[in-house]
Amino acid sequence: MKVPLLDLKIQNEALRGEVNAAIAKVLDSNGFILGAEVKALEEELADYCQTKYAIGCASGTDALLLALMALDVSQGDEVITTPYSFFSTVSAITRLGATPVFVDIDPQTYNLDISQIEAKITEKTKAIQPVHLYGQCAAMEDLRRISEKYNVPLIEDAAQAIGAEENGKRAGAGSEVGCFSFYPSKNLGGMGDGGFMTTNDEALAQKLFALRVHGSEERYYHKYVGLNSRLDALQAAILRVKLPHLDSWSEKRKQNADNYRKLFTDAGLTEEITLPFERENGRHIYNQFVIRVPKQRDELKQFLAECEIGADVYYPVSLHLQECFMYLGYGENDFPESERASRETLAIPIYPELTIEQQEFVIEKIAQFIHSH
Ligand SMILES: *Cc1c(COP(=O)(O)O)cnc(C)c1O
Repeated sequence: MKVPLLDLKIQNEALRGEVNAAIAKVLDSNGFILGAEVKALEEELADYCQTKYAIGCASGTDALLLALMALDVSQGDEVITTPYSFFSTVSAITRLGATPVFVDIDPQTYNLDISQIEAKITEKTKAIQPVHLYGQCAAMEDLRRISEKYNVPLIEDAAQAIGAEENGKRAGAGSEVGCFSFYPSKNLGGMGDGGFMTTNDEALAQKLFALRVHGSEERYYHKYVGLNSRLDALQAAILRVKLPHLDSWSEKRKQNADNYRKLFTDAGLTEEITLPFERENGRHIYNQFVIRVPKQRDELKQFLAECEIGADVYYPVSLHLQECFMYLGYGENDFPESERASRETLAIPIYPELTIEQQEFVIEKIAQFIHSH
């Protein structure tokens, strides 16, 4: 039995007719950049994320960059963030000449360890940028308190967390700017690159709308030096077909996560393997189901590959140890929980269409590996 880490074929096949019709409509409209489809999608996304505004852009990476630009982050500023995330969480900061100031993660959630943040705030701190890793919100209410106490804005890297909640509040709704990605492997993925930002602040929204089109509000008149970072009409039209299914897909992922919990427990594997921690009063959307394997993680991954089971490591190198960030002066053991996570975590298949038989097969093979090592 083959169990890929992610299989988009089933989902896309079910929507083929609707997607083709949406593409044909854009073709006939003769408008390909921004336009009515993008505007309609933005309204639907704002509604979905419980925010006043949603602003489409070219990728999740650009969403982070645009958010930082909108808050005037530049040379000499500091942005507090996590070293355990996808690359662009940090490259967006350094690209503007600002300095990422890392805070280690909480080993249970893999998100920022709130207790370590205040000690890192200085005069130069221009923003705090938590990541909702794997689809679970960072402790936003605690972060909000810190943000208000020090008057430092929050930017959410919610690229993996569309629809995730803490106490009923959605990712992207509890900060100055929320940043999202439509990379195909996200819960709401496009058929190409794309992303968007959310905000409740009208002035910030206006600035973000301008920054994504070369900083202009009126064509050929430039208020800021912005980017060319627009969402195209084709992506928007396709995403509008997919958005109504997002909640049922995220619920299926959650159901699969619950199945795994039962299967791992029944197989007696919870000593050797730590299952993902779910915070109380939250909604985890399980963009990834990440187990912690303290012993022989890489060997297990290799064994699963031989059994045609997809598994991957998000992320094998902590960002403070990346070659391109050596100039920041960090070294080994500076963020021990982040480094330990990079050695121990393994994502296993969780996509919505995964069957119970496939999940049972994954557990059977993990058990076989554990018992023979
Ligand atoms: C996917 C992702 C991004 C970047 O999104 P792109 O659309 O690929 O540019 C940023 N941060 C995190 C945490 C992500 O998972």
